[in-house]
Amino acid sequence: MYFYKDSFVEKTDRMISPDDRGYYFGDGIYEVFRIYHGKVYEQEAHLVRLVRSAKDVRIELPYSLEQIREIITTLVKKSRISEGTLYMQITRGEAPRAHSFPQNGKPVMTAYCTDVPRPTDAMDNGIRAISQDDIRWLRCDLKTLNLLPNVLSKQAAVDHGVQEVVLHRGGIVTECSASNLMMVKNQILHTHPANHLILHGITRMVVLRLAHALKLEVREEPFTLEDLYQADEAFITGTTVEITPLVEIDNKPIGSGIPGTITKQLQQQFERTFSK
Ligand code: PMP
Repeated sequence: MYFYKDSFVEKTDRMISPDDRGYYFGDGIYEVFRIYHGKVYEQEAHLVRLVRSAKDVRIELPYSLEQIREIITTLVKKSRISEGTLYMQITRGEAPRAHSFPQNGKPVMTAYCTDVPRPTDAMDNGIRAISQDDIRWLRCDLKTLNLLPNVLSKQAAVDHGVQEVVLHRGGIVTECSASNLMMVKNQILHTHPANHLILHGITRMVVLRLAHALKLEVREEPFTLEDLYQADEAFITGTTVEITPLVEIDNKPIGSGIPGTITKQLQQQFERTFSK
């Protein structure tokens, strides 16, 4: 079941225009919501981010927030998803190809749910990563459809037989190709500040909240790739990856090369935020 252009349709019934600016320019924004036990996790935080992305790329949302909430509720119910994700994207609309905004383009929203199990194996055992230059633009805080650098990074990970790419600008670690990154050194949790260089992850926000509750010292300050090599623990955060330990980077183990104690503590606390 899809929501596409004002109505609920079957996937095969969608007629996507080749003139959709999403295709020509990646001219659109999106959100990925997590569903646990048939309920949308941190829905309002995702909607706040969606509104901000829309505003900053100057796309007018085609529906009110109240209508969007209703669309989400209907989709989750109709899809009968218990554990999964809801993908929502809004493009600037359909118009013959020209860079400037179309005069009468109506933004097009697509949304659907997918069954996605929790990645328990990766969460228990950790993942490995390589590092790469962060070649993205300077508004990584906006969740836009322009994901080519992220796609290329993720493929580089696959080509190297690892699961993620840690991105850095001139040696300063920003985030990963599809997740935020945190590291622990001497019991202090470090992560890049939520500025224009990273996506302000919803999971990142929840984890920082949990860290404060655990009275962990947190530093939202830039740190280097060299610092990450010397870290005691590291993990990535994201809507689908939750808190996944990072146990190796650039062929070097992080800490003792197994998921760390603080990482596990945060994982336990995180699980409590959506458990029945
Ligand atoms: N950074 C990037 C580049 C992402 O694509 C994502 C989402 N997969 C995240 C961070 C994590 O954000 P969230 O916790 O909101 O899913």
